Amino acid sequence: MQTTDDRGLDLDVLIVGGGPAGMSAALVAGRASLRTVVVNAEAPRNAVTTASHGFLTRDGAHPMELLEIAKEQLQKYDTVQYIEGKAIETRKSESGFEVELEDGSRLTTDRVVVATGRRNELEQLGLSGIEDVYGNSVYPCPFCDGYEHRNEALAVFGGEGVEEFVPLIRNWSTDIVVFTNGTKLDSSTVSAMNERDVRVVEEQVSQLVSTDGVLEAVELEDGKRIQRDSGFVFDDCSVPASSLPEKLGVETTTVWGMEVYDADESGQTDVPGVYVVGDARTGFSGLMNAASEGSECAEHIVHEIAQERWHA
Ligand SMILES: Cc1cc2nc3c(=O)[nH]c(=O)nc-3n(C[C@H](O)[C@H](O)[C@H](O)COP(=O)(O)OP(=O)(O)OC[C@H]3O[C@@H](n4cnc5c(N)ncnc54)[C@H](O)[C@@H]3O)c2cc1C
Repeated sequence: MQTTDDRGLDLDVLIVGGGPAGMSAALVAGRASLRTVVVNAEAPRNAVTTASHGFLTRDGAHPMELLEIAKEQLQKYDTVQYIEGKAIETRKSESGFEVELEDGSRLTTDRVVVATGRRNELEQLGLSGIEDVYGNSVYPCPFCDGYEHRNEALAVFGGEGVEEFVPLIRNWSTDIVVFTNGTKLDSSTVSAMNERDVRVVEEQVSQLVSTDGVLEAVELEDGKRIQRDSGFVFDDCSVPASSLPEKLGVETTTVWGMEVYDADESGQTDVPGVYVVGDARTGFSGLMNAASEGSECAEHIVHEIAQERWHA
């Protein structure tokens, strides 16, 4: 079904969120001649970093550079319209779904792809000074930033379950101190780490000491400072960036302790016409996988629409 909104747009698919997931979905949908609109608030989760890694051909690019290239490449498709803005409300309507933007305009569509990612809530970590270093020298993902800090003196921040993370971090450095920030770990867990020269500090952390975003030391409650160059956080501190899927009746589920929207690998949720891709679905896709998910979802939608048109 083709629908018209109060901006005068005819669209087959509305994509909310323009990170790698949403923009890749737009590329595939637009190239398949679907009238596609992307609404993007332009605040990707990794915006705090200066360089993103692991996206082949764009390794080391600034996150906003990735967005600019994506916007430029989509511009040549007259099937794709890009709107910088934020979707704030959504509801089911007679013709499908209505999505309201912050500027008061409304878009109607019978297929909506939610690619809104996640929002970090760093205060959840209870680490004073984390805002200064997060994305600069302390990170959530060793695959993304471990190489740049290999063989450095690393801090790993995490409580229960951190022992699953530490062997991974050892790929990049053997000089590791684990800070549980007050959590008492099982003594056998501590012994297993100590036997592998990983020190475990269970005292409360009073602050992360840094200069210009570069971690220098972790200060404990008693004032003692332990020198560290960089670090990784194990505990997830993110939440879904938008509640749009929930408003449309999409269920949530838990993946690695993170609350995410329940959708299959093609992004299809239990609510017909609503798809969720990228971090909003997985918790942490990474740029390459997010792009792949967006692409796969759009292909799935193109197949669906082709069948509908064939049988109409
Ligand atoms: C500090 C840090 C560093 C990272 N470094 C790397 C790295 O080096 N390599 C790597 O592969 N991965 C990295 N990641 C992970 C990566 O950022 C995510 O996995 C990836 O961005 C997910 O893509 P996405 O498209 O799902 O979401 P995002 O890239 O987060 O994009 C979501 C978009 O939706 C928009 N949006 C949200 N709500 C709305 C709304 N209501 N209306 C309109 N738009 C909305 C946002 O503003 C944003 O532009 C890092 C993550 C963090 C936190």
